[in-house]
Amino acid sequence: MLSRLSRFLPEFEIRLKAELAYEINRLKREKNAVILGHNYMEPALYASVPDYVGDSLELSRISAATSAEIIVFCGVRFMAETAKVLNPAKTVLIPAEKAGCSLAEGITAEDVRRLRERFPGSTVVSYVNTYADVKAESDYCCTSGNAAAVVRHLIERGRERIIFLPDEFLARNTAAETGLPFVKGWEPDAVAPEGPAVIGWSARCEVHDLFSVDDVLAVRRQFPEAVIIAHPECSPEVIEHVDISGSTKKMVEYVRTSDAKQFMLFTECSMGDNIASENPDKEMIRLCSQRCPHMALITLEDTLEALRRTQYQIELPEDIIDRARLPIDRMLEIS
Ligand code: SF4
Repeated sequence: MLSRLSRFLPEFEIRLKAELAYEINRLKREKNAVILGHNYMEPALYASVPDYVGDSLELSRISAATSAEIIVFCGVRFMAETAKVLNPAKTVLIPAEKAGCSLAEGITAEDVRRLRERFPGSTVVSYVNTYADVKAESDYCCTSGNAAAVVRHLIERGRERIIFLPDEFLARNTAAETGLPFVKGWEPDAVAPEGPAVIGWSARCEVHDLFSVDDVLAVRRQFPEAVIIAHPECSPEVIEHVDISGSTKKMVEYVRTSDAKQFMLFTECSMGDNIASENPDKEMIRLCSQRCPHMALITLEDTLEALRRTQYQIELPEDIIDRARLPIDRMLEIS
């Protein structure tokens, strides 16, 4: 931990965190648990206790395949729900009970049913950043890394109207990438055109919504050599001005393999620290004001309590698990 974290944390803090990590790792073995850590975890947690780190898609695959008795999901609730749907016989724990997400909370199962009535014959694609009851009303799931691939897959099979939920910006960016018109599905008088279209919803990520074109231009002025990478939950205007758009997985891979030396990531700010800790020869410019308040709730202390008390368990009704599984499986098959 010292070698990975000494650029970000004072030594006394690393030592305190290391003691917590030691106890978590001991309990993890004793209880036959696996710990999954999302890329947005705080650096001390990210670097110490997860058996696997990654984005939603990578961690979903691992959740489905693990033989461990307990899955501790160091991420927000919709991620832990996805793990439960994919492996319902396991005990799935989330260290912070209230770790939500503005996207997942931006749409309900009833909203999906109403959209289907308003746009009959549509195929519903839900971003994985949704709760299980919304996935249960959907035909396909997608992540930010495979959204365009899922939409292309459907268009090639003659599905013309795609209701894409719940992130307005990811829907607009995916429509632009696939060359499809975008419809504001949340507006009462919205009409879908004849032929293929993406019908979106109005939820936004409260973190990525904060980045502006002015931020991009300011970084360009001050750091002209930096490669600027933005998450597709940023607005289409921001995406137009950056060098690369991609999921957290794409960001990790790009920085690792690129010859460039300086990077700016327009995404949750722990991600910059986590990538920097793995690539000491690369410089990350960081805007550390943009921390996701939900991801920030997951700490080493709470992860330890989760293992000690077997808390907080994810419980879902059986019919929701059965119905939510299909769109996730369809996504995993495509990707
Ligand atoms: S960063 Fe945005 S999308 Fe991710 S959990 Fe936080 S609010 Fe949700």
